[in-house]
Amino acid sequence: MVVEEKSRVEATEAGQQRVEVNILLLGAHNVGKSALTVRFLTRRFIGEYGDVESVYSRVDRVRGQEVVFNIWDSQCTQLPEKSQSGVKRLQWADGVILVYDICDRSSFLLVRQQLQQIRRRRKWPSAPVVLVGNKRDLRRHRSVSGEEGRLLALAQRCGFFEVSAAETYHGALLVFHRLVDMVAESRALRKSSAGVRGIVRSVSAVFARKRAE
Ligand code: GDP
Ligand code: MG
Repeated sequence: MVVEEKSRVEATEAGQQRVEVNILLLGAHNVGKSALTVRFLTRRFIGEYGDVESVYSRVDRVRGQEVVFNIWDSQCTQLPEKSQSGVKRLQWADGVILVYDICDRSSFLLVRQQLQQIRRRRKWPSAPVVLVGNKRDLRRHRSVSGEEGRLLALAQRCGFFEVSAAETYHGALLVFHRLVDMVAESRALRKSSAGVRGIVRSVSAVFARKRAE
């Protein structure tokens, strides 16, 4: 699969700016990554999804802004320390959706580990991440409490939702839109800190010139 680095902002025909956001889904096998992706893209739950790894694109409006969602429905469980393909995926992504199944404790332990790996990466300490506990319709059989999910998200500065891809479209919509908001916030922060760094550089240059005179 060839992944190109594209411009993040482009103009639409109407002259409005269109923003592009690359979203990577991670988590254990069978937690509902594909179900959540397909729900968001088509509003439907089809039950069986196969094990195909794909990048999907969809244009949608988020608070009046046109957004191109590029969604990588990944099968990858090995992150940076273990695999080159993990590194490639994280480099491509602007934000990550980490999915676990609230009835499968091992899937929660895996996303906790993946989250720590993401946070340890030098360029990714504050990467936008949304943590999702899926299969809420099966909550009578849950083995991960809502509190545990919420506390992990709080400790690692993530968004958090418990949803059921099987039951509603609304949950999937909230998850993807929340991540886009977080990516927008992190881009604005980077831009303003780059601006401050620019000002510091010019002020330092003026002082350096003055000292030389
Ligand atoms: P992936 O391996 O993480 O992509 O998982 P899939 O999206 O293929 O889903 C794995 C299985 O869980 C499938 O049989 C889905 O029908 C089922 N599934 C996905 N989401 C839900 C959900 O919210 N509730 C229930 N009950 N089943 C779900
Ligand atoms: Mg899948």
